[in-house]
Amino acid sequence: MTDIETAIATDNPASVPETGITPGGTTGAFRDVLSRDHARRGKPPLHFADMTPEQRIATAAELGLPKFRVKQLANHYYGRFDADASEFTDFPAAKREDAARAFFPELIHEVTRQVADDGATIKTLWRLFDGSLIESVLMRYPTRTTLCISSQVGCGMGCPFCATGKLGLTRNMSAGEILEQVRVAARMMRDGEVAGGPGRLSNVVFMGMGEPMGNYRSVLSAVRQISAMPPEGFGISARNITVSTVGVVPGIRKLAEEGIPVRLAVSLHAPSDALRDELVPMNRRFDTTAVLDAAHDYWLASKRRVSIEYALMRGINDQAEHARLLAKRLNHYGDDWAHVNPIPLNPIEGSRWTASKPEDERRFLDILHAAGITATLRDTRGQDIDGACGQLAAKGRDGRA
Ligand code: SF4
Repeated sequence: MTDIETAIATDNPASVPETGITPGGTTGAFRDVLSRDHARRGKPPLHFADMTPEQRIATAAELGLPKFRVKQLANHYYGRFDADASEFTDFPAAKREDAARAFFPELIHEVTRQVADDGATIKTLWRLFDGSLIESVLMRYPTRTTLCISSQVGCGMGCPFCATGKLGLTRNMSAGEILEQVRVAARMMRDGEVAGGPGRLSNVVFMGMGEPMGNYRSVLSAVRQISAMPPEGFGISARNITVSTVGVVPGIRKLAEEGIPVRLAVSLHAPSDALRDELVPMNRRFDTTAVLDAAHDYWLASKRRVSIEYALMRGINDQAEHARLLAKRLNHYGDDWAHVNPIPLNPIEGSRWTASKPEDERRFLDILHAAGITATLRDTRGQDIDGACGQLAAKGRDGRA
């Protein structure tokens, strides 16, 4: 077992450093390539969202603030998306700055904001305290608004067709860093900063940079704080949260045990081990049978249909035989437990992997439908700003990754 798997299996906080910086694996399919200077980066500042209730009370006491002030701060943060001293108007004026500094250090700093789809899609590039860059993408649809967030800086899973995978893993993000992406987006929606006027952030998907199961503890903490009602969380229903994974089986099993009705999305991308070994190196650790068994068990435990993500790559995994095998493998477990999302691959610069031909896409879908599998071609919102799946590579303003 790697340290990540051990931590997931035992949920032993001591085995996961506070920052979530994982030591990384050097063998097998994990390519946790840590940047050489990770040890010097240190920990993200401790944020209100990272603190236990006791830590919050102790921090308040150090500032000479009574316990009830912690509740007021929670109302500000989760209920009104405030983290700025000027907004703590129910606080003694002399204590506002101190409280903001102690509880709400700036964890994510906006570097650039790119807008597409007539203002309905906004991709934000964030700089973290140590200079790391991550991205989140906000997408407004007629009936919902979805935020795609990052949970790691880079990704260690090494899928060859993916822009993020090329970066390797720099480090895990703290729960505070993950949640701040949500708070800012929820605030932007409320304040009408997204085309369409004021509204509400309704959905959150962990499909940005990183493998959420590789940062299980922080991701789970974030899920709880996104879904709890204010003043414990942002009040976005767990049913509207999707946690994706490339197939880290211990993580899927642990998530099923949590009893939180989040949707699970599994990035399958290939129906056979021979092909998936190539496209998703993690398959050599957890093969398609292990992944589908775990995904189906997740459905049994949660009664939430599992999303099977399948990036269609021209001539590689998009042929009729692949669709037939995928249908057979899913139907092996019964009806209606999974929903397939074939995703037209977004071509990335300098990559030999390209999107399928439209006629192959159509045939792929037709074969799945004929076999009784529900499948919808996933919308690739934000394609013109590199904001779609597998393209979040945190390019700086100068275009360097
Ligand atoms: S496809 Fe997902 S799991 Fe694979 S390298 Fe990219 S971000 Fe990581």
